[in-house]
Order: sequence, then structure tokens, then C-alpha cells
Amino acid sequence: MNDTLQNLLNEQIALLKKEHLYKPLVSVESPPGARVKVGGRDLINLSGNNYLGLANDARVKAAAIRAVEKWGAGAGAVRPIIGNLAIHDELERELSAFKGVPDVLVFTSGFTANAGVIPALAGENDVILSDELNHASIIDGCRLSKARRVPFKHKDMDSLEDALKAAKNARLRLVITDGVFSMDGDVAPLDQICDLAARYDAAVMVDDAHGSGVMGKNGRGTAYHFGVTNRVDVQLGTLSKAVGVVGGYIAGSAALKDYLTQRARPFLFSTGAPPAVAGACIAAIQIMASDDTLTARLWENARYWQAGLKRLGWDTGATETPITPVMVGDEEKTQALQRELRAENVIALAVVFPTVARGRARVRTMPTAAHTKADLDEALAAFERAGKRLGLA
Ligand SMILES: *Cc1c(COP(=O)(O)O)cnc(C)c1O
Repeated sequence: MNDTLQNLLNEQIALLKKEHLYKPLVSVESPPGARVKVGGRDLINLSGNNYLGLANDARVKAAAIRAVEKWGAGAGAVRPIIGNLAIHDELERELSAFKGVPDVLVFTSGFTANAGVIPALAGENDVILSDELNHASIIDGCRLSKARRVPFKHKDMDSLEDALKAAKNARLRLVITDGVFSMDGDVAPLDQICDLAARYDAAVMVDDAHGSGVMGKNGRGTAYHFGVTNRVDVQLGTLSKAVGVVGGYIAGSAALKDYLTQRARPFLFSTGAPPAVAGACIAAIQIMASDDTLTARLWENARYWQAGLKRLGWDTGATETPITPVMVGDEEKTQALQRELRAENVIALAVVFPTVARGRARVRTMPTAAHTKADLDEALAAFERAGKRLGLA
């Protein structure tokens, strides 16, 4: 082993620990539900993105097993060669119908969808206008693109308009925003963004990873919620969060899909989803499309949870969705709150720099449709005791 490399790694890890930015991996000993087993203990899980509880749904699991039996364990090749199984096409048809768009292309993750679509669409003479709080995978997608990236202030339409004016000589202007912002839970003003984009001849892309399964009728997403499905050029969704499995997709026009099958590098050079994933996703989308009780329960639990935290004096920031940050600010205190909650049998993870800005640390909590009122009451009592012990609330 190379000593220089090993020393570098050890120095960097020590530095992260010193700055309270080091996050050890948690080993979960049960399926991802409202409660999980960690270290042999039963904990209330407030850190998952499994919004609707579909990750461990019996119907979704059965569909995964059926798909393995029919199609095998792996796709066998990248999709553009001979790995495009009919079950991939079926998933894309299911998603197009659900989203109400002409076509959908599935990627192996939301992250790779961003890494594929952004450089494929925006090149040398183009400008990407990107909300400053956009997800890391959008930022990395932009880094892979030769386009100039101009950040605009978070949800600030004056700032976006200034940036659009400054980009008037570009070949293409592409506005990119999260639909639901993953660390704060606030929602992009998509109607206003579409209005501005139309005025300045710009295309609009929405990363709806946290809007899929959460926003709009039956969780059809943030564009559906605002009634702008036909005005958003590119919708990115994930199959890894509310849908409960793994994968990402791009929803839009037939030409968009067609072009991406030729030019999106993670699609061209990385093997497609295993059949189990495609089968499980089809089942999950069918459940979502036919029944809105899970999304309704998610929102009811979110309102109950947020009202409870506020009653105890906690600051839940700017959230408008089930994503519920418990704002602390200081990194060390945030880590201490996470530890105290764990002692109270609640797993709610601290989010610190670089995921959020320094001094904006928080414990991020995610109520889901799978939680019972009793789970949430127990977790509220844990927050009350932990807050008192630390003098935070
Ligand atoms: C989670 C997330 C992604 C990545 O999705 P994966 O399917 O987990 O790779 C992309 N964008 C946003 C906004 C996300 O929150």
C-alpha cells in the first residue's frame, strides 16, 4: 500500500472528526420501515426517504421475485446493446401514463439521471441557471457539462430574471431547480419559474426526487401540483425514495427520450436496472396510481409531526412538505442532539456541512405513511427529553 495515500486518508478523516463533520455508517439489521433494528435495539426511524412504506410492501416484494424468476438476476448488457428488456419498456410506459407525459427514460439512479441529462442537453454555447440550493447530483451534472453555470438565489425570481437577461446571447437557456428541496422541504415556485422561462425563451428542468410520490394527485409530482406538466421540458424523478426501490427517470417529450437514448452517457455506458428492480417499480407505481390513501396518510402524519415539534418549541425551518428539518445551527450541538435521540430509541440523523452550509446544521426528520400516531408521539416525547437535556428546546 502507498504510504502517501494512506496518510492523506487518515489526515482527512481526523480533520472531519475534529470539525464534527464525520458521519459513521449505521448498520441496519431489519427492512427499512417505521421502526428499524440497529445494534439489536428497536428504533423509531425518522431518517428514511421511504415516504409511502413501499420499500417493504408485500406486493412490491412479490413483484420483484416474479421478475427475477421470469427475467433473471441481471440485464446482461447495457440497454443500447442487448440489455433493454421488455420489462424496462413496460416500466417506462407505466411511468409515462402516471406522469401524464409522452415518454420516460429510466436510469439506474436519480444521480446518474442528472449526470446524464444535463451534459447531454446543455453544451458549450449554453447557459444553465441553477437554484443555489439544488441537489449535489444537479451540481455534478452541471460540472460534467461544457455549459456556463449561473446560480440564482434560492427561489428568488428577481435573481433568476437577472440571470436570464444576462444569458440572452446563449444558444439555449436551461433553468434547473429542485421541485422539493431535499434539506429544507420547501417547494420551488414552478408556476412563476415557467412564466419567467417563457418570457426569456428558456427551457425548464425540475428535479423532483422528493416530489415524486409526495406532491400532486397520487404523488404525480410538483409539476402536476402546479398544473405545469406541459410547460416543464424535463422532469427528473427518482424510484429510490417514495417508490421505495432504486432508479431515476427523465419524463418529457418523445424527442427528449429519443435523444437521451443516443447521448446520455450513464445510459449508454452503464448496465440498466436488474429485472427485480424494474418489476418492483412497476408494482409500486401501480399501487400509487390506483390508491391515494398512502399519500394522504403521509401528509396527515407530516402535519401531525410538525405541529407536535412546534408545540415543543423546535424550529422546523421553511418546510412545506413532509421533509422536516429540526434546525439547530451549530454542528457539535446537532451531533449531540442526534446522540441523545438515539439514547431515546429514535434514529434521526444530523445533517451538517457540506450537505448544508456551515452553521445551518440540523437534525432532518422524515415522517412517513408507515408511522403510526403512537410512533410519532413516542418520538415527540424523545425530542422533548433530549431537548431539555441539551438546553435546546
Ligand atoms: C436523492 C436525490 C437524487 C438522487 O436520487 P437517487 O435515485 O437516490 O440517486 C437526486 N436529486 C435529488 C433532489 C435528490 O434528493
